Amino acid sequence: MIERPCPTCQQTTLLAPSNPHRPFCSDRCKLIDLGAWAEESYKIPTQEPIMQWEESEE
Ligand SMILES: [Zn+2]
Repeated sequence: MIERPCPTCQQTTLLAPSNPHRPFCSDRCKLIDLGAWAEESYKIPTQEPIMQWEESEE
């Protein structure tokens, strides 16, 4: 048996086909981790010069 701490809550989690949420302990922890990851990836590409449109070039 392989046991690892859940990446989200650090609770000892079984890494086996019997655990459908592995490497997480539960579906909730899985969603939390995916949500955090998605948030991180959204934060990176914020270099677009949207503010440049404030000045009008007539
Ligand atoms: Zn967990």
